[in-house]
Amino acid sequence: MGLFAKKEEFCTICNKGIFHKHKPKRDWNVEGPLCADCYVDVMKKHYEKNNENECVVCGKEPGSFSLWKPKKEWDVKGWLCKTCFDEKEKLDNESKKFCSMCGTKLGFISYSPKKEWGIKGYICKICWNSKN
Ligand SMILES: [Zn+2]
Ligand SMILES: [Zn+2]
Ligand SMILES: [Zn+2]
Repeated sequence: MGLFAKKEEFCTICNKGIFHKHKPKRDWNVEGPLCADCYVDVMKKHYEKNNENECVVCGKEPGSFSLWKPKKEWDVKGWLCKTCFDEKEKLDNESKKFCSMCGTKLGFISYSPKKEWGIKGYICKICWNSKN
């Protein structure tokens, strides 16, 4: 008796004996059954990974090949879709035209304020010198 009981199965990831078998989804690239813990783990990881395909501004998911890396000075974490990237770039270009401190129209030369000054955009030479 008991010899013909169902063979115990083990989790593909942690090798624990499984009471409640969870079948991994096909696109997870996991072969074999999972215990409940690992199932949730993999699902979470997979979900987080999917977030990398998402525009951080509007949440659209155009796919990783249609996402743009934001410029360093924008201080944006993650990726942007083309629409949001263009929008950001336009705003960025606008902010380059005028000094963030005194509002003077900037010429071809604009200065990036230092991070610790807490100023967004660009400033003119006079303001930069007064700050420095
Ligand atoms: Zn497991
Ligand atoms: Zn977007
Ligand atoms: Zn200025």
